[in-house]
Parts: sequence; structure tokens; C-alpha cells
Amino acid sequence: MDATRRTARRSTRQQRLVFEAVSTTRSHPTAEWVYEAVRRELPRVSLGTIYRNLQRLVEEGRLRSFERAGLTRYDADLELHDHFSCVRCGLLMDIPRAPEVLPAERRLRARGFAVEGRTLEFHGLCRKCRRGASSNG
Ligand SMILES: [Zn+2]
Ligand SMILES: [Zn+2]
Repeated sequence: MDATRRTARRSTRQQRLVFEAVSTTRSHPTAEWVYEAVRRELPRVSLGTIYRNLQRLVEEGRLRSFERAGLTRYDADLELHDHFSCVRCGLLMDIPRAPEVLPAERRLRARGFAVEGRTLEFHGLCRKCRRGASSNG
């Protein structure tokens, strides 16, 4: 096998491992988390390679990415869904999206806006952090 084919094959494997790392957790991991997970399989992989593969997967539409508290988080669940984020521990939990149209969306449409999507995120304390908060105070 020539060097180009070897490189192509290696990058396919890297990309598959990166995708698996994101898609087998519901934690919406960061690039650093994915790096630690992939490193168990490919000890010599670099963080830059992880970033490039994540970026490519997002461009190919296989992953979604979004910013939370200055960090880029990745999500393999492409179905429309909303999130709850915990302001203390950073938990980002999926919430199935209710099918009904929100009143705000109805108002926008009535005013002539073409609504193409929405981002809805609840934030506060998760159950675990809430218990911690109440036992401290
Ligand atoms: Zn929490
Ligand atoms: Zn999600």
C-alpha cells in the first residue's frame, strides 16, 4: 500500500473513532473529552487531529456543535430536541421536543416572518447539584 492510501485509511479510522466517541455518550462532549476517549484506541493521536475530525463531521452533517460557557460541545443526535443545562456541573441533557407550535412562533408567522427553526434551552440546577445545594445551606 502506498503512503497516500495508508494516510487515507488512518484518517478514516480516526474519523470513525471520533464519531463513535460522540455518538455513544449523551453527555454532549467537548473536543478534550473526545480526545481522551480516542486516545485509548490511538495513543498517538493529537488534539489537533481530533478538532479537524470533529469539524469535518460537523461539515458533513453527521454531528452538531454548539457553544456552551465558552466551550464547543458536540451532539450526535440530529433529531430536533431541546436541552436542559446545569449551571453548576455543566450537564447538558436532551429533552424530546414537543410537537406543538409555541405562541411566540405563531406570532412571528402572523407578522410575516419565515421561522426555520428554534433553539430552546432550559438552565438551572440538575437534581444532583440541587441536592448538594440544599444540603450545604
Ligand atoms: Zn448539575
Ligand atoms: Zn442534545
